[in-house]
Amino acid sequence: MKLNELELSVDYFQFDKKFYQKLESTPLNNPHLISYSKSACDLIGLDYSSCESESFVAFMNGENVLKGSVPYSMAYAGHQFGYFVPQLGDGRAINLGSINGWHLQTKGSGLTRFSRQGDGRAVLRSSIREYIMSEHMHALGIPTTRALALIGSTHPIYRSYDDIDTGAIVMRMSTSWIRIGTFEYFSRGKDAQENLKKLTDYVIKQSYPHLENEDNKYERFYCELVEKTAKLLAMWQAYGFMHGVMNTDNMSVAGLTIDYGPFAFMDTFEMNCICNHTDMEGRYSFCNQPEIARWNLEVLAYNLGKICSFKKLIGYLKSFITIHQKEYLDLMNKRLGLDKRLSKDSNIDLVISLLEALEKSKIDYNCFFYRLSKLKSLDSINSITDISIFRDSIIKWFEEYKKVIENQNQDFKYMKELMLKVNPKFVIKNYMLQEAIENAKNGDFKLTNDLLFIAQNPFLEHKEYDRYSNPTPIEYANIQLSCSS
Ligand code: AMP
Ligand code: MG
Repeated sequence: MKLNELELSVDYFQFDKKFYQKLESTPLNNPHLISYSKSACDLIGLDYSSCESESFVAFMNGENVLKGSVPYSMAYAGHQFGYFVPQLGDGRAINLGSINGWHLQTKGSGLTRFSRQGDGRAVLRSSIREYIMSEHMHALGIPTTRALALIGSTHPIYRSYDDIDTGAIVMRMSTSWIRIGTFEYFSRGKDAQENLKKLTDYVIKQSYPHLENEDNKYERFYCELVEKTAKLLAMWQAYGFMHGVMNTDNMSVAGLTIDYGPFAFMDTFEMNCICNHTDMEGRYSFCNQPEIARWNLEVLAYNLGKICSFKKLIGYLKSFITIHQKEYLDLMNKRLGLDKRLSKDSNIDLVISLLEALEKSKIDYNCFFYRLSKLKSLDSINSITDISIFRDSIIKWFEEYKKVIENQNQDFKYMKELMLKVNPKFVIKNYMLQEAIENAKNGDFKLTNDLLFIAQNPFLEHKEYDRYSNPTPIEYANIQLSCSS
């Protein structure tokens, strides 16, 4: 369909007015299209050609309001770095309505009632990052919000004295924008129970429709979310993804990766890696992520417990770590090519010793798995020792790996087939995004678009970008980013 044939619908105004604000975007100056995602267009049935039009840029900039759309921002609360903040909300995001179950939202389109000290804007740098990474996570099979398109502008944005950036807008799409923090907001004040029930019914209708007519639907929703989140975290851990700001307002109740900030895919493997510069204590370090997700779900249980059995919720939460570990080990076995039909062993010892060996040998995490999948034989591992700073540990680990393969009668040729399905040639690292950002700041968007294509097709060859399948250059490995975006 052409852009102006799309019809959106809005279902949020059933809640009390204190939970949202109807408003208009504040357009950016001189907006221009940088990129759009064909794969995201398909989800909402939008013709690609429409994205090249001026009216599409106007749509992204809030100046072309589609049929049925009534723009609004949502209120929520949240625990930020462990401390409760009663009033947050979409400080720079505006919801437009939904189509085909996808809720469209512009990020960076001006002040809202929830902007607090912020300017309602998003800079080009963080917008490129979120845009590409949303599409990449999807391509890796990791549940996530999506991104339809990205516009830039000449609008100056001041984030610090020496950093004048320009404003950009990403059109994000999600099957749900409700966060644990939304529950924290609805569960306060008078009529908390009634409001919470309405919100939970809304979430169930939106993301768990099979539960709508079930008994104990609130508890069952929670139980399913525990499972989804445990599995989501298993994917993050297995692929070395760090979210960076796992505050409860950045945790989806649909089990998706949301709100991309100072995230990173791990470069050199480091168990305690912290990707967020402002996270001094490492609350959101790589190895803490599963426990933090569990903690966030506990916060949800305290709030949801006002309308159903708290005891039951906490009971379900106990299964979080078990589900997470099982899923994580399954994924790691796949990444190592170990066919689980050949052994009942979860190979936990092998996985733990691999992580230790990767850390000691200082090996690029995802690059290791890709090179492993491409080995000609287990007796010639030069392509891996060549990317190790210290070799002994990884060489020793290969002896262990060979023993497991032999004991379980695994066939290396078949193992490689399995591995190539789950170990992509390309994982988008921060240094690549940084290159695209620097070009984009100079008005050259080719790399942004090329990276999007690689991000969406990480298992393809992309010969001209072979260098991106190598380890991250050491001077850029595991650099921390700040939240300022
Ligand atoms: P985050 O952790 O980046 O998802 O943001 C935390 C809160 O700060 C949310 O309520 C955001 O809407 C808000 N926020 C972040 N940046 C800005 C900004 N530039 N202007 C207004 N609000 C913002
Ligand atoms: Mg957020």
